[in-house]
Amino acid sequence: MRIITRGARIGPCNICGITQALTEDHIPPKGVSRLSQVVMLNLTDLLGVERPKKSGRISQNGVKFRTLCAKCNNERLGIHYDPTLISFTREIRSYLESALHLPPTMYVPSKVNRLVRSVVGHLLAHGVGEHRAGTMMDELTNYFLDESTAFPAGLKLYYWIYPYNDQVLVKGAGLSLHYWNAFAVFSLLKFYPLSFFFVLDEPPEWCIPYDRLDPLLSSAIEDEAMVRINFHGLPVQRWPEAPVDTGTVFHCPGAMGAVPRMP
Ligand SMILES: [Zn+2]
Repeated sequence: MRIITRGARIGPCNICGITQALTEDHIPPKGVSRLSQVVMLNLTDLLGVERPKKSGRISQNGVKFRTLCAKCNNERLGIHYDPTLISFTREIRSYLESALHLPPTMYVPSKVNRLVRSVVGHLLAHGVGEHRAGTMMDELTNYFLDESTAFPAGLKLYYWIYPYNDQVLVKGAGLSLHYWNAFAVFSLLKFYPLSFFFVLDEPPEWCIPYDRLDPLLSSAIEDEAMVRINFHGLPVQRWPEAPVDTGTVFHCPGAMGAVPRMP
């Protein structure tokens, strides 16, 4: 199945819903990504083969979707929120790439309310014609557009170091960790150097052992928090998008990966 990254030139913005000219949103934003030429492929292809299949699609400037209006893309994300994500990931990159001996943990200060809105905005940009598609995206759209709105109740946002060169984007998939006992809906953004994992109504018995951003959030947009970065005890590269042992994952057609294009 071909990966769709653009629909009509004029259409409803994935975030504000206003029908107007659409612009390309880079996921992650420029300044975070180190990838230039990538091969985009369905997630099932990424998980199933070592090298990208011929069905993969080449993109010259990383992964991008023409789904946002200029205001949401350049102003809301580009001016208000992306700079926080960019500086946060730069700080982590500089540690990963220069430290001779990484500490078990470190703390990075960040304006977390802006940081999380940047991640949310790019999650919303994934997929053509998906304005407020589904409960999680509906609530995240409210959260993104209004700085006085609290992060959705029932939603958890995990994060961890992702020291790999590829990217994974999943919007609204079903996950079971222990056979068929309990399912939760999740979304996922993975790009060097971080993974962001949204879980809706996580079953209490799961006890996912990674750090979360949502408890650090507040209603004052400028509030700063010390974000803990763990360098040890990371999940395997393909968790949670690939089923392991007892788990099951149901992906939607839009789930995708991107790998650097080999010369
Ligand atoms: Zn918009």
